[in-house]
Amino acid sequence: MGRLPVPHLLANPAVAEMLTRAVESGVTRAEAHQLMAECGTDLLVAAAGRIRDRARPGAVTYSRKVFINLVNLCRDTCTYCTYKKEPGDQMLSMMDPAQVLAIAEAGKKFRCTEALFVTGERPEQKYEQAGAWLRSLGHSSTVDYIREMSELVLEKTGLLPHTNAGSLTKKEMVMLKDTNVSLGVMLETSSERLMGKGMPHEDAPSKNPKVRIKTLESAGELGIPMTTGLLVGIGETPEELVDSLLVIRQLLEKYGHIQEVIMQNFAPKPETGMARFPPASSEYFLRAVAMARIIMPGTNVQVPPNLNPDAFGRYIDAGINDWGGISPVTIDHVNPEFPWPSIESVQKVTEGRRRRLRARLPLYPEFLKGGFITSERLLQQIGLIADSSGLVREDYIND
Ligand code: SF4
Repeated sequence: MGRLPVPHLLANPAVAEMLTRAVESGVTRAEAHQLMAECGTDLLVAAAGRIRDRARPGAVTYSRKVFINLVNLCRDTCTYCTYKKEPGDQMLSMMDPAQVLAIAEAGKKFRCTEALFVTGERPEQKYEQAGAWLRSLGHSSTVDYIREMSELVLEKTGLLPHTNAGSLTKKEMVMLKDTNVSLGVMLETSSERLMGKGMPHEDAPSKNPKVRIKTLESAGELGIPMTTGLLVGIGETPEELVDSLLVIRQLLEKYGHIQEVIMQNFAPKPETGMARFPPASSEYFLRAVAMARIIMPGTNVQVPPNLNPDAFGRYIDAGINDWGGISPVTIDHVNPEFPWPSIESVQKVTEGRRRRLRARLPLYPEFLKGGFITSERLLQQIGLIADSSGLVREDYIND
């Protein structure tokens, strides 16, 4: 591969040289910090795009999903969150099995392949109402109920469960391993400073980076494919952002189980503690996305298109290879203010960048090998809907 043109960095040949090395062979911690601090955005983006072209040359993917908002009570309080609801709120969600199944069945009709289960963090630890609701359904914990609902959805519809219920213990993850092809927990940031007084995670003990890292480590020890990522612009410094990416890289290198890194840009929402906080600037976020690719060349890097409705194509330029879950059936309950674009419009934008759009499972093809999935029924179901490349059969969607 030829060297990158670096005309306007001639004044700093060390950075130009570093960027060329990044494309060819990756970056050290010190180099990652220096690139974030000193490299021009256009060059950073161009380098990230070239790294993606080399390391992930195939289609840009998305997961056709339904969003099952199982319970949106939450023990924690993050000052940017509108997902969490309080008892009595009109938008409170506490779904019974019939409601769960109805959504999954609707998803099957629209050829969805992922059932995304989302909950607040251990609601039963804070709300008596949540405990009583779980007991009425025959369960003592949210995870126990997720396990049963995963069984139900898998058996009745064949949609593949993927759960994001926040921080989980090893024992809890074992409970989900047979029915969930992958699990998710956002690291969001590795900065403990953001747990300080007046900071976004002050009242969110589960957002302590040590707790999140422990969850990701436990998943690694269990061989569970994990989705994680960062929430960009919640008050971290650029150095802390790079450190957070390096923490994910370290976990990936140790366990090989990080199947994707989601990059989400913070956008302030009315009536939250951070309503007046500025959004992540588009340039800062673009740099953050490019750095994710530069730091983890071969990993799947995702930006959800609904959070950047006017210009999401630019993230392909910055090295992503995935759009995440898009639902033709349900809304994004975490960001209801941002409707998903239609799959047709995502396809148009993707093809405009000369790349194909393909549907993937909530498990990336490379994780079909390596012994990550041991459950026979999951393997059987995957076999019914995946083609030889591990992506969703095109005739399955178009049938
Ligand atoms: S832990 Fe998740 S659901 Fe709970 S307040 Fe924070 S962002 Fe919202």
